[in-house]
Amino acid sequence: MKISESFRAIFIRDVLLPLVTVLLITLTAACFAVYWASDRTNHDEALQQQKIIQTTLTQNLEEMLKQQRSLTRWQPLEDHLAQPTPDAGWLDDNVGTWLSGMFEHQLIYLLAADGAPRFLWDHGRRVDSAQFSRVNVPVGKLLREMQSASPVSSARRDRVSFALIDNRPAMLAVGEVSGDDSRRGKLIMASVKFIDQGWLNAMAQRNMLTGLRFNQTGEIERDWLGYLLTNVEGSPIGQLEWLADRPGSRMMQVIAPLVAGVVLVITLICVFMIRRLWISSLNLSNSLLQLGASEAQAQHLAFHDVLTGLPNRALVDERLNHAIGRLNRQPGRVALLLLDLDRFKIINDTYGHHAGDELIVEVAHRLSALIRESDTVGRLGGDEFVILQNDVQTPQDPIALATRVLEALNQPFVLLGIETWIGVSIGIALAPDDATERMEMMRKADIALYEAKSQGRGQYRFFERVMDESVKTRQQVGADLRVALQNKRDLAVHYQPLMDIHGQQVLGLEALMRWHHPVHGAISPTEFIPIAEEMGLISSLGEWVLEEACRVARRWPNLTIAVNVSPLQFRASGFVERYTTIVQSAQVSPAHIELEITEGVLMEDEKAAQSIISQLRQVGFRIALDDFGTGYSSLNYLSSFPVDKIKIDRSFTQSLGITENSSAIVESVVKLGHAMGLTVTAEGVENNAQMSALADAGCNQLQGYLFSQAVPESEIAALIEQRKAD
Ligand code: C2E
Ligand code: CA
Ligand code: CA
Repeated sequence: MKISESFRAIFIRDVLLPLVTVLLITLTAACFAVYWASDRTNHDEALQQQKIIQTTLTQNLEEMLKQQRSLTRWQPLEDHLAQPTPDAGWLDDNVGTWLSGMFEHQLIYLLAADGAPRFLWDHGRRVDSAQFSRVNVPVGKLLREMQSASPVSSARRDRVSFALIDNRPAMLAVGEVSGDDSRRGKLIMASVKFIDQGWLNAMAQRNMLTGLRFNQTGEIERDWLGYLLTNVEGSPIGQLEWLADRPGSRMMQVIAPLVAGVVLVITLICVFMIRRLWISSLNLSNSLLQLGASEAQAQHLAFHDVLTGLPNRALVDERLNHAIGRLNRQPGRVALLLLDLDRFKIINDTYGHHAGDELIVEVAHRLSALIRESDTVGRLGGDEFVILQNDVQTPQDPIALATRVLEALNQPFVLLGIETWIGVSIGIALAPDDATERMEMMRKADIALYEAKSQGRGQYRFFERVMDESVKTRQQVGADLRVALQNKRDLAVHYQPLMDIHGQQVLGLEALMRWHHPVHGAISPTEFIPIAEEMGLISSLGEWVLEEACRVARRWPNLTIAVNVSPLQFRASGFVERYTTIVQSAQVSPAHIELEITEGVLMEDEKAAQSIISQLRQVGFRIALDDFGTGYSSLNYLSSFPVDKIKIDRSFTQSLGITENSSAIVESVVKLGHAMGLTVTAEGVENNAQMSALADAGCNQLQGYLFSQAVPESEIAALIEQRKAD
């Protein structure tokens, strides 16, 4: 499958990128949310744990103060101490042993108001006052703090705080010994409870903390949490630290694989979807492409000739309109060349349609090779082509093109392995000179083409105003001829005699049509017969001439009456029947009528011509081959067409004595005709020299102005009489 670059680019831009972006955003957001939730949980848990530590420590400090108060606010102790010499044993029992045994205060000191040590216990045992130096500094600080408190405050009477003693963390409590709240005590009690590892372990166990320990350095390891212990002045003495409990991280450990799995599944689904989307878009785009292609194909078919692929009439019309329209906007010229192949029909009939098609295709190739990109070669149908030449500067341009076309098509064509020749006739019209509208342009090129063909083919002709006029005249003449035929007015048949070889005896008459046009006067049959053929009048005209001839034949039963038959008439269906009927109903023997046909009759379809000729001869008509020698292969035809007479064309007669071997040619034609048992007549005999040359050559009959022009029926009798008299 071929993928267009633009399709890939559009897919990536419009589908893939947005999808991947949305996917990435979603996944990033999901990951971030999970991470954030876990971090947040960790953070909250850390705060919680710190709070627990703080609360626990505060409680412990308060408890310690309360424990100490059980003695400092105990009146009997104050009373006992008020004695000049207090009983040391009593004090051991009620102070040292009590606090140490009951509440695990490790160091207990009783001090004078000025801070001087009086009684000291360590783990319940009385010790020397020298020991006091261990706590001298922190106790001093705490006392100063206490005594500086405002007089009304109860805080003035005792205080508790953390302190570093012997480089160990401890809780230190001091308080005045006074049973009565309203009085200041004279002695001070200080007690110490060490925060040792055992104590920490118990606390950790109660509060579900891991690895709780004291660290004096203040540095904290990763994943550990700390709680700063400060002394009474607020200075840090070290910190408690424990391994952080991270429920968020635990949750993360559980969720992460799950999220990864979901992400993987979503990604896979997306990849799958994108793939599906890609394939279906590709199919869609392909089928759209195919649709476009078949649309283009249909479009092409609508505007192109199937056989050659050239633009057809519709497209040529469109381009011609376009080209003419462009002339309004920018000055210039457009040339339209109409082409008609000269011998196409013969080739088509001789070699078959297949060869004909091959020829048309080859012509299309040759023409296409001759034009510029901006020009158009089209096929209008059959053997008609057209060239639309744009940007014509001078008439020289279409002349050059037409010349090239003539040259190209004059080269031989090889059909079925046989070299053949055709030719082409070209009619040229120019816009805006000749026309500024398509139909008019076509019409004028067509007139020019007609002119090129009627003037001998194989050439080009530019449209000229006179041609248009001649066409108009022709049409007018045709219409007039129709009227004349309907009314049998202005039309006549004249008769020219056929003489024996000595020019003495009238052997027959040739019926020749005459038309006296009411405006144009006498019009020659060489002019009006082709018009009658074009306008479909020739059969009626011919039949009328035959009817006239039959009347004459009846009057002169010894004479053969020759009647000319046009090839078109000859090929029209029912021709034989109609002629037979006319002759029979005129009660004339067909043997008295000589039908003059030309080689043109024989050329088109040999078989059909052959059969019509035999039918005519079977009826009894005589057949003469008129204008013999003007065609190409007259002698060949003679062997395959059974005729009774040949009439040597007047151009031969008139070349006698002028062209060198003309008499030799005439002689050999006569010999050949005689060998085939035919009568040989020579036309156009105008002088005696021609007559004697023809006699020498062995001709049988003569016809020409030397004897008589064609005369009206009324003068025939006189003509015959005059000849007899001569
Ligand atoms: P065509 O059949 O060859 O007729 C002979 C033509 O030669 C006639 O011309 C005749 O007047 C002319 N002609 C006769 N003798 C001489 C001569 O010595 N010198 C010269 N220069 N010409 C001579 P026309 O009558 O003008 O007829 C011309 C052609 O028109 C005929 O040629 C024939 O092909 C056609 N035509 C005439 N009448 C009919 C008709 O009734 N039916 C048909 N189909 N064609 C006709
Ligand atoms: Ca004739
Ligand atoms: Ca003739």
